[in-house]
Amino acid sequence: MDERSHRMDKNQLSEGIVYLVGAGPGDPGLLTLRARSLIEGCDVLVYDHLANRKLHNWASAECERIDVGKSPGRHTMEQSEIGKILVAKAQNGLKVVRLKGGDPFVFGRCAEEMLALDEADVSYEVVPGVTAALACAAYAGIPLSHRDFGSSISFLTGHEDVAKESLRVDFAKFAEVGGTLCIYMGMSKLEEIVEKLLVGGLSKDRPAAVVSQGTLPGQRKILAPLGELVEQAREGDLGAPAIIFVGNSIGLARSSTWFERAPLFGRRFALTRASGQKSKMRSRLEALGAEVIDLPLIKIEPAEDRKLVAEVFAGIATYEWVVFTSANGAKAFMEIFFRAYSDIRSFGPMRIACVGESTAEVLQAYQLNVELIAQDSTAEGLAKELIDTDSLDSANVLVITGNRNREILVDVLEGVGRAIVDTLPVYQTDFADVLEAADLGTFLKDGADAIIFTSSSTALSYVEQSDDLIFQEGARKPILCSFGPQTSKTLQENDLKIDLEASHPSTDGLIDALVEHFSASG
Ligand code: SAH
Repeated sequence: MDERSHRMDKNQLSEGIVYLVGAGPGDPGLLTLRARSLIEGCDVLVYDHLANRKLHNWASAECERIDVGKSPGRHTMEQSEIGKILVAKAQNGLKVVRLKGGDPFVFGRCAEEMLALDEADVSYEVVPGVTAALACAAYAGIPLSHRDFGSSISFLTGHEDVAKESLRVDFAKFAEVGGTLCIYMGMSKLEEIVEKLLVGGLSKDRPAAVVSQGTLPGQRKILAPLGELVEQAREGDLGAPAIIFVGNSIGLARSSTWFERAPLFGRRFALTRASGQKSKMRSRLEALGAEVIDLPLIKIEPAEDRKLVAEVFAGIATYEWVVFTSANGAKAFMEIFFRAYSDIRSFGPMRIACVGESTAEVLQAYQLNVELIAQDSTAEGLAKELIDTDSLDSANVLVITGNRNREILVDVLEGVGRAIVDTLPVYQTDFADVLEAADLGTFLKDGADAIIFTSSSTALSYVEQSDDLIFQEGARKPILCSFGPQTSKTLQENDLKIDLEASHPSTDGLIDALVEHFSASG
């Protein structure tokens, strides 16, 4: 091959690139803007267990996701194999993001991956991340330096492989260095590390701390003098991943921080609604400090009767009211609408009523004025408020529904309100197979504080699949929490005890009930 064709070949092949990206310590809010945009635009996402799984949602649906995870003592993939995957994907011209927990260059074995890429002449870039020690310190209120108490900060590692007998660092020597020590991967050798530090000359009174699962909803910490650290860590059952801190400035730590004081901090809730739905409930719960796991028990798919749609749309100008009973219905309807018309003005002068805020938001996004949002977000509430407008007598009303909607709304509008009602089903709700839920393993192993049923269909699906929902020993047993009276009724009819019902059937009502219940029960 002459030099020119060699260069050409190289150019063709070198379109692919690997980004070694710091995924931060856990909280997705701690990634850099660059990391986020690279994840959003990549063809292949290579990750391990230290990078929060939620980050995968930022990648496109087409993006290939490869798990190369390993945990101490359980190597699922050799480092050399990971290198090979990165090289092969990039040589195929793909944009590869290799997510590394925390910062790629801090005990992340990034150097080995860099070498593999260098050897194969593959382009790469490194994107820094917030390393666990700094993030844990910040979220747990542990200052790492102080003018008088700590003028150096050391990052040390206990081990990289539990199977390896000896510690990698001479901790007795670091006792002399003093300052603040931040020890990664030290939990399985905690006793030995503490002993070496004491032998090296640190006092038993030297302030110390352990922070596990830092920045995550399950964050736990203990603050203790070095001499008591092992016992307290054992009692507190603090496991990996955790950072051990030792140093005088640790003595200035606060017992609780903004992060740990959030009303639902440390609580885990399972949401049963269909996956892929933008969830206000999820973001509200997370903002209050809770961990949210997805256990979709239903799936929602667009479903329409073309003939019926054609009939309704032919007479769309004749309706006085259009009534939306769910956000899913509103979304599916607008999709169908824009397939038929290209201009929002074709919507006509219909007045719009919605069962609740999130349904209204879908329409308001098109600048459509929602005239009525039921205060009490139930079909009965909506029917009553519509009748109260005194505009239904002989009026043509279009009700947008799913396949499982209750008849009650239509009955009341026709019976009491004397309206002429057409219903247009636009989506279908079916039970989702719980065995396919990505978070099922975590749910059954660790349990949750509450399982939240957002509709009767989620409750029915739960009953039907209860054989697949048996908790492992030691899992937290969740209380059953219902969104509203109809869902509660379905649960009761199936002999399930409702522990908590939303103060009124809306996201806010549910969140209020959870906060009240869980902050009161400590
Ligand atoms: N590159 C990573 C460190 C990888 S080594 C970084 O910069 O953070 C893995 C170790 O990091 C764990 O054993 C633990 O000591 C620490 N660690 C990672 N995430 C953590 C977290 N959320 N909370 C506490 N420690 C964490």
